[in-house]
Amino acid sequence: MKPRLALFACALALAATALPAAANAPGAAKTTVAAPKDDPVAQRIDAIVTAGYERPAQAIATLEAMRRDPGLSAAADQRAVLLGMGLVEAQTGHAARASTIAEQLLASAVEDPQGRWMAASNLVRAALAENAGQLDVAAALAQSALPALHAGCPGGPPAASAPAPECDYRAAWRVLAILEGRALSQGLSVTVQSMAQSALVLAEWAADARRRIANLGSLALAAQVRGERERAQQLVQQARRLANDSDDQALQARVSNVEARLANMQGDRRAGLRHLEEALALAVLAQAPRLEAMLLNNLSDAYARLDRPADALRAADRALVIVRRHNDVRNERVLLNNAGIAKIGLGRLAEGKRDLAELLELWQRSGETGRQVGTLQEFGEALAAAGDARGALELYHRERALSAEVMSANRSIALKEMQSRNDADARQRDIELLARDNALKTEALASRDLQQRIWWLLAAVMLLAIVLVVILYRRVRDTHARLAASHVQLQAQSERDPLTNLANRRHFHAVMSRLCSSGGFDGALLLVDIDHFKRVNDVSGHAAGDQVLIEVARRLNEAVRSDDLVVRWGGEEFLILAPRAAPEQAEQMAARVLRIIGQTPVTVGAQALRVTASIGYARFPLPPYGAEVPWEQAVNLADMALYTAKNQGRNRAVGIASSTAATREALHDIESDFDRAWRDGRVTLLQTPGPDLRETLHAA
Ligand code: GH3
Ligand code: MG
Ligand code: MG
Repeated sequence: MKPRLALFACALALAATALPAAANAPGAAKTTVAAPKDDPVAQRIDAIVTAGYERPAQAIATLEAMRRDPGLSAAADQRAVLLGMGLVEAQTGHAARASTIAEQLLASAVEDPQGRWMAASNLVRAALAENAGQLDVAAALAQSALPALHAGCPGGPPAASAPAPECDYRAAWRVLAILEGRALSQGLSVTVQSMAQSALVLAEWAADARRRIANLGSLALAAQVRGERERAQQLVQQARRLANDSDDQALQARVSNVEARLANMQGDRRAGLRHLEEALALAVLAQAPRLEAMLLNNLSDAYARLDRPADALRAADRALVIVRRHNDVRNERVLLNNAGIAKIGLGRLAEGKRDLAELLELWQRSGETGRQVGTLQEFGEALAAAGDARGALELYHRERALSAEVMSANRSIALKEMQSRNDADARQRDIELLARDNALKTEALASRDLQQRIWWLLAAVMLLAIVLVVILYRRVRDTHARLAASHVQLQAQSERDPLTNLANRRHFHAVMSRLCSSGGFDGALLLVDIDHFKRVNDVSGHAAGDQVLIEVARRLNEAVRSDDLVVRWGGEEFLILAPRAAPEQAEQMAARVLRIIGQTPVTVGAQALRVTASIGYARFPLPPYGAEVPWEQAVNLADMALYTAKNQGRNRAVGIASSTAATREALHDIESDFDRAWRDGRVTLLQTPGPDLRETLHAA
């Protein structure tokens, strides 16, 4: 005999008991929801409804009182009280009263955009249908109530209206429990698992130990069905810890019941029986008769498997009394199943067969295929044990066919879930790819932008560099030109006397080097020295002396031809160069110079200063031999003539008219003692007096 029916019964009983919770329905949008506020009214109602499972009349009375309390004005609280009353009535099988409450809830639905009142109404009807064993009807009603009640909860759908409604996790959890119960009755373990998981999310979110324990129990059994023994143990141990922490014997009894189911499924019937007996003891202590009934039901199943049909029948009969009191049609059927099997085991074959055939009919009508399969198996095994091989075989074939249907339904549900998960994964991947693609595009755009900026920057830098180069080039060119100009200017300045603006010695040297590059000097040279100039400085001051020098220079320039060059030779000494002048021109020039300087006094301020000069001059080459004379020697000879002019009394010109020297050496001799040479007649001098002297004397 197999323990499946009892398993279903236990899990259903767990689910049907309102226990607190949090959720993650498959396919629902992931929502982050803040932890629930501690709502004392909702907590109180919940406690009353939970207690109402065992003592409905008392619970209804308390809720009625709450409802009439004027302090309870909030619409949500009113709805919670009504829903609580509806659930108590429904799970006690009071169809008329439950329906009235459902109507009352519906009446307020018109003004509720969130659809919570209508959903609550449907939930009451669903609980009623569930209690009556109409699990398809219950599931359809629960399904329609789920979106509105699950909205605003973790794992719930996105809210239809803003602001998002607060999570009413207890109502949502109850709906999920109904859906889980239906799936369990159909043997659809995949759906059982998914509903229990969603409900567990709600229970954990709300830190609701009672509801968590229920979900953990369901999930442990589902894991064991899948053959995941370790996972099942982990889950049940988690539930055990929570129950022990709670000090609630009824809760502990429920966990013991799950442990019993697991032990049985793992083949340890004795341990299973021990756990059940423990559970029953706890339920009695907790004064929870409905729980007691459920455990008796499971015990009857356990006794049946241990070939103790008398004990099995006794337990089933004890439980039947209780469930009938509570109009618990569903569990009544399960108990009838166990009682029928026990009767066959006790040899009351006809009686048992009749009971079980009726039961199978009921299961079939309410669409509870899973239960049908369980009953068929147990029924068949019982007949086989009782020696009715034909009956057993027939039942076996029916069971196989039905099992195949269930398996295929399970497979297709699992397939659909997998497909929807895959679709979601694919969508997520698409979104990720799109996001990555977008990021890449953004990056490419940014890089192109950067590249463009760099190009612009480079262009700007290059333009700037070109402009700089042009500016620098112009500056260098200008500087160069200025330098060249100032060089010319400096050169000119360096060859000019700043006071008189006459050429200086340096310029004269340059000119002479050019003129005499190919030999001796050809032309006239006059050295002019102002007489007693020192006195001018001494008497009239240095500034007056300067003025005199400037004026003399001007007059000298006036006295010469444009081809001639006047040089400031030093101090108050001047030199006149007249290249290629004729011999008589030199003498004329000397006379002109004497006149132009000496004839008119120089006016300085209020003074009129009389100025005379002495001149030594010659025209080279000297006649008659015309020996070649370097220009330095020519200057020297003119200077000697000047010296002579000074010696002879000043204000006069002394010119070298001729010389006996035919060679350069002879000229050197003359130079070395000019005076003697003159007296020896080696040179002939020509004297020209200045303006003061009336006559021109010719030297002998
Ligand atoms: P001599 O008739 O023998 O030439 O007598 P002197 O006084 O003219 O000649 P001396 O060589 O004794 O003196 C020349 C003076 O000329 C001395 C110097 O102070 C003056 N002198 C030289 N250069 C300048 C100048 O640029 N400006 C002025 N004011 N005086 C100058
Ligand atoms: Mg002098
Ligand atoms: Mg002088």
